[in-house]
Amino acid sequence: MSAIQSITVLGATGSIGVSTLDVIARHAERYKVFALTADRRWQVLATQCLIHQPQYAVLKDPASARELELELRRQGCTTEVLQGDEALAQVAADKQVDVVMAAIVGAAGLLPTLAAVKAGKKVLLANKEALVMAGGLFTRAVAQHGAVLLPIDSEHNAIFQCLPNHRADYLADGLKSSGVRKILLTASGGPFRNTPISDLAQVTPEQACAHPNWSMGQKISVDSATMLNKGLELIEACWLFNTLPQQVQVVIHPQSVIHSMVEYIDGSVLAQLGNPDMRTPIAHALAWPERIESGVASLDLIATARLDFTTPDYARFPCLRLAQQAAEVSGTAPAILNAANEVAVAAFLQRRIRFDQIAVVIDQVLSRLSSTEPHDLAHVQAADVEARSLAQQLIAS
Ligand code: NAD
Ligand code: MG
Repeated sequence: MSAIQSITVLGATGSIGVSTLDVIARHAERYKVFALTADRRWQVLATQCLIHQPQYAVLKDPASARELELELRRQGCTTEVLQGDEALAQVAADKQVDVVMAAIVGAAGLLPTLAAVKAGKKVLLANKEALVMAGGLFTRAVAQHGAVLLPIDSEHNAIFQCLPNHRADYLADGLKSSGVRKILLTASGGPFRNTPISDLAQVTPEQACAHPNWSMGQKISVDSATMLNKGLELIEACWLFNTLPQQVQVVIHPQSVIHSMVEYIDGSVLAQLGNPDMRTPIAHALAWPERIESGVASLDLIATARLDFTTPDYARFPCLRLAQQAAEVSGTAPAILNAANEVAVAAFLQRRIRFDQIAVVIDQVLSRLSSTEPHDLAHVQAADVEARSLAQQLIAS
């Protein structure tokens, strides 16, 4: 093993951030924390700074940054506190950083993640929304700046592990050229897999956030309940593995033990299995191509006993169909889909719209705005802003 690697964790206080710090803490001989960032939860960030002693802590919110500064000085911690969007990009791109965990939720993660890519870092991508919004620009920047992009999303990490080692081949010529027939993207089906469809109008944010198998942030939990998350993951898979939506089949697998599969043209199907604990993909990507302990217990196949598979029901999960359509249209359609969804999910969490209206908002925004071919970041950001504003108007009316 070479020198200790310096890591920036973007979104350190979130579900993925906390799991990442748990894995890092198990391997002090391999990793040290360079910077930790969050939106505004300064108390959690203060505790993390006292444990990991990073060089920098960044908060997006200025008032929270002042509180953090006071608290760290009071505790005698030397971590320097920065604030704002530029500082997020700065700690993602700093010369001293080897690895960036991109775990900010939503479109807010795009710029700092892209800053890490443009600085040629090893980027561990949890922030799927960044790739959904700007996949073409993002993957071109990865190639141009020699960054290494590794998937943290459990399904994509599983697919990555099941694909051939010669990544350069499929990244250049597509998955078909590597003998892959299709990707089987598994989905738990979320908390409402068996709820009568007529009851979905009444579900509460608390019910939507109570995922049966995974403990995650609120936004991705709601996305899992609508299955828009699987749609975002379909788009994510197309960019990560250079394939088309038609080559990706979504399969409901309620136990979340198989994290996804790859089928080859000779009929072989490779799967990656494990307990539903994000420390496995995090440890895999951190150490890749080596392997390290993650703290995850052995999978007990006898206790698991059975693995079930079904096809998704589009009447129950209209968001999945909307995302598949946006994937096929491509251009700015995925960015529009993502923006409308972020606004709709926030409104649902604030009890301003019903659960079943999330799909209605996305559908209306997608049908009123036309997709164009994004030539630069400003173009993607303009599509994002326009879709957000239309979604807000629809919700307000
Ligand atoms: P979370 O809500 O628990 O945490 C989000 C983090 O982002 C927090 O640290 C928060 O402070 C920070 N943040 C939020 N808004 C910000 C802003 N405007 N500017 C700067 N920082 C901001 O979310 P999570 O569940 O950890 O998910 C993070 C990302 O990882 C999402 O894109 C999600 O889709 C993806 N992901 C999560 C899981 C999981 O198991 N949690 C699995 C796969 C993929
Ligand atoms: Mg996932």
